[in-house]
Amino acid sequence: MHTDIQPILDKAIAGERLTSEDCTELLESKDFVRIGVAAHEIRMRHNPTDVVTYIIDRNINYTNVCNVVCTFCAFYRRPGKPDTYVHSIEEIEKRIDETIELGGTGVLMQGGLHPDFNIEWYEDLLRTLHAKYPKFQLHCFSPPEIHNIHLISGLDYETVMQRLKDAGLNSLPGGGGEILDDEVRKRVSTKCNTQEWLDVMRAVHKVGLRSTATMMFGIGDRIEHRVRHLQRVRDVQDETGGFTAFIPWTFQRENTALGRKITEEPTGIDYLQMVAVSRLFLDNVQHIQASWLTQGLKLGQTALRFGADDMGSIMIEENVVSAAGAHVEANERDLRYQIREAGFTPQQRDILYRYIDRPDVDLDSSDSMKLKELSVAFAD
Ligand code: SF4
Repeated sequence: MHTDIQPILDKAIAGERLTSEDCTELLESKDFVRIGVAAHEIRMRHNPTDVVTYIIDRNINYTNVCNVVCTFCAFYRRPGKPDTYVHSIEEIEKRIDETIELGGTGVLMQGGLHPDFNIEWYEDLLRTLHAKYPKFQLHCFSPPEIHNIHLISGLDYETVMQRLKDAGLNSLPGGGGEILDDEVRKRVSTKCNTQEWLDVMRAVHKVGLRSTATMMFGIGDRIEHRVRHLQRVRDVQDETGGFTAFIPWTFQRENTALGRKITEEPTGIDYLQMVAVSRLFLDNVQHIQASWLTQGLKLGQTALRFGADDMGSIMIEENVVSAAGAHVEANERDLRYQIREAGFTPQQRDILYRYIDRPDVDLDSSDSMKLKELSVAFAD
């Protein structure tokens, strides 16, 4: 028997901060529509226009070599295996040139945890790219990669982040968060623990960079773990104010060791409820992002009525989640159509949520050459 959630929703609407007990009640409730209505109201306070933003960027996975094991990952290859790769700088530049040609403003570059790359390798990469593309945003290296650099170089997180910032890094993706609770993390991964992930983010924000925060749920976690995750993100945000957005999504099971063991997956309703509760609980994070790439375009679109104000990325290349079974494709016109049909105005943005206008391109035309190219590049 669940308690009535209306007093909790009234509290949120009145501008009061929700407790972790409130958060638990909301996530346990079956009344997800009422939670969604309240979340939308709060979304309109954080972002008081009908604009829904999206970004055009490219995910470059610079290497699949990884020296840790995550049982939910279908992408990594152990060092020395025959199908490993490391992209050359020329390959990365070619992908960036294509991204710019398609109206993209940045790159989301992440990779496995390579055992041989010291901080100079990352600095050289950033410096080279920043010198060639000074206005192109380098949104790179999630906390596990920063932790790996710290282990190899012996430098503390703040020094690592300051050096990467000086070399041209613009911001950090919040990947590798999964569930920020070691009871769950230790069962599924040997990469950085909860404290280390949060401390990397503290260092990122301390040197003046912003980052996103993510959650991947459905990896054997229970509601109590999801609540602790949200609480930890909110606590760091109270300290630093450095998170631009929160992005929850569900585990993509295909081709993963964990996927063969998990019997119950989060449903579409669980996803929408998580988006809505995130919006209500994270009162200090401005943006909540819908993850259409993992949830599908239609559920991503529906999330826009459950508290999300951003549709994420036209991601031209995404190997990690596509290796694990997310095969959704969309071009810019499709994404704009979904946003408009949900009752909002689509708007391209950059990594810091600043609006980008391309007046020379007909973004909604079905026969725009640019859009066809984008679609082809996405399928690459
Ligand atoms: S999720 Fe990242 S850290 Fe974990 S195995 Fe895959 S590439 Fe390595």
